Amino acid sequence: MIRKTRLFTPGPTPLLPAAQFAMAAADIHHRTAEFRALYTRVLAQLKEFVGTRNDVIILSSSGTGAMEASVSNLTSPGDRVLVLTAGKFGERWTALAKAFGCEVDVVSAPYGQTFSMDEVKAALKLETRVVFMQASETSTGVRHSVTAVARVLKETQSEALLVVDGITGLGTTHLDMDADGIDVLIGGSQKAVMIPPGLSYMAVSEKAWDRMEATYNPRYYFDLRKERKNARNGESAYTPAVALIAALGAALNYIAGQAATPEKPEGDLATGRRMLVDNAETIAAMTRAAVRAMGMKLFAPDAPSAAATAVLAPAGVDSGLFVKELKGRFGAIITNGQGEMKGQIFRIAHLGFFDYMDTIALIGALEQIVVKSLPHLNMPFGTGLVAAQKVYAERMSR
Ligand SMILES: *Cc1c(COP(=O)(O)O)cnc(C)c1O
Repeated sequence: MIRKTRLFTPGPTPLLPAAQFAMAAADIHHRTAEFRALYTRVLAQLKEFVGTRNDVIILSSSGTGAMEASVSNLTSPGDRVLVLTAGKFGERWTALAKAFGCEVDVVSAPYGQTFSMDEVKAALKLETRVVFMQASETSTGVRHSVTAVARVLKETQSEALLVVDGITGLGTTHLDMDADGIDVLIGGSQKAVMIPPGLSYMAVSEKAWDRMEATYNPRYYFDLRKERKNARNGESAYTPAVALIAALGAALNYIAGQAATPEKPEGDLATGRRMLVDNAETIAAMTRAAVRAMGMKLFAPDAPSAAATAVLAPAGVDSGLFVKELKGRFGAIITNGQGEMKGQIFRIAHLGFFDYMDTIALIGALEQIVVKSLPHLNMPFGTGLVAAQKVYAERMSR
């Protein structure tokens, strides 16, 4: 049979066709009025997509570049910082902060779980300058509560900045940067915004901009103040990834267009963003219900992310079986666990350009694999699909 290749990976995610066309047509020079108009429009759209009044900066790098920029711009060597971690991306904050000479305190939770706010409160010191966390820990499929951490910072009247890796949190979680008092919120192009890898973006609070006046870790390419100054003139400091910026504009138009009405055919990004989050939530809930009905366990049952679902392979089965069979038999690309979770879990993404049809098809393919490769489980066809169908119908009737 024909097997169409389809990504179900939590970055890169499937590409929006309109964004691909915009990329192909983006034959423009970055020091022209044409580019300045594009850049200015995309930066304004990104502010609406993030849902903030803060300035947003675009960097030509993958998401980790914006993570590094947060550390290098907001800390000085010897600064005490707190990292909240429960997976591979949390561990990246620790490594980055150490690389820039910070004294790192860590609150960690076991893989598959989120950390307790009591521990966060206890670990927060008077000298803590920055708190780093993920909104969604993609390696384990866990959602952390940014709002709860922000509340702890407020309650304790901490001076610490709150820096959130929202790379798979944006577009899958209803985040409110300004109300919560998040100081930096980071996104990446290959995640919910449906375009290829290569851009990161970050919204930065006034408190964080002020902090940068006093910090002195080395920075050059990722000098955020320089980028802000240039962005105000519609340009970036160096040659930007022009094609990706054009793609991002098209994708944000598409997301806004989800909320189109006869009165407002171009739609509205704030509403479109909420619809995108609800879309991911529905697909995640369908997937969780399906795999549970099929007798498999969720790796993160208590705080599941809507960005990706991590599923524990059945006892005695290597999770690579699902990765291999989905690709080999159905052209569907999912991801194995990272690091020591490899072989234990497989992960299915929901962020970005996924719909009902994709979801039902993937669950159907999972059933084919369980029935054929794991006959001892005695699972009848339809087990996962029935559960997913019910979740979909229930959520659509709300
Ligand atoms: C994808 C991802 C990143 C960024 O990784 P890059 O490969 O640098 O784009 C960071 N944090 C999380 C939670 C992610 O999912």
